[in-house]
Amino acid sequence: MKCAIVTGASRGIGKAIAIGLAKDGFQIVVNYLNNERKALETVAECEVYGVKAIAVQANVSDYEACRQLVSKAKETFGSIDVLVNNAGITKDNLLLRMKPEDFTNVIDANLTSAFHMMSFVTPIMLKQRSGRIINISSVVGIYGNKGQMNYAASKAGLIGMTKSAAKEIGVRGITVNAVAPGFIQTEMTDVLGDTFKETIIQNTALKCLGEAEDIANAVSFLASEKARYITGQVIQVDGGLSL
Ligand code: NAP
Repeated sequence: MKCAIVTGASRGIGKAIAIGLAKDGFQIVVNYLNNERKALETVAECEVYGVKAIAVQANVSDYEACRQLVSKAKETFGSIDVLVNNAGITKDNLLLRMKPEDFTNVIDANLTSAFHMMSFVTPIMLKQRSGRIINISSVVGIYGNKGQMNYAASKAGLIGMTKSAAKEIGVRGITVNAVAPGFIQTEMTDVLGDTFKETIIQNTALKCLGEAEDIANAVSFLASEKARYITGQVIQVDGGLSL
């Protein structure tokens, strides 16, 4: 049975991705930072589909923690077939008010983390001569957003990383793609005011916010055999917000 690691899978989009991949028959490594109870709920919801899942605490901003996360996954399931770099945070502020640590922390959690995970997973996939890496970017990384310079830089960086890695490791049958969500209803966007949400809805062709499952469905496709000839791409799942 194949194995997928999903970072930041205790809640929100990561949780929906983990459950979606479990439905597709993958054994799942549910990574989380603090929220063990929610991570165990994700594990239980994955196991409903007859696969084994484990929860592994690791701060993906930390190189050594990622090494341990990947070796735990390999030791438990024997192979790593899919890596989804989903863990992410925001620390929004206008450029003139942004503290250096708010810039660095967001880059570390959203971008450097993906480098850490890919560093440890890629050698395993190269040996297997197969694998799928899916990075969760954002439309903000493509179009920018006021008050999110740190976040936009991290998500744009993920796109550059995706394309470069796709060129580097495609020769061994490994695909690397990114999914760029628009505004999706999760705890990350719960903090936004109703007026702001209404503006987003009005600017979205489909006139609604997205759901975590909309992102999970795109990830399931990219992880499937049907997507074998797609690499280095960014799929925008945003209800037409960016049109
Ligand atoms: P969320 O509800 O805030 O969940 C964040 C997840 O990431 C949690 O599982 C959290 O774990 C984990 N996490 C955070 N920092 C971590 C770290 N250093 N190491 C390990 N895990 C960490 O966020 P979301 O809305 O589902 O977003 C998921 C991804 O989609 C993010 O990369 C985000 O930037 C991207 N995205 C979201 C939207 C949106 O509209 N929601 C739009 C575009 C892109 P704990 O529960 O343990 O804290």
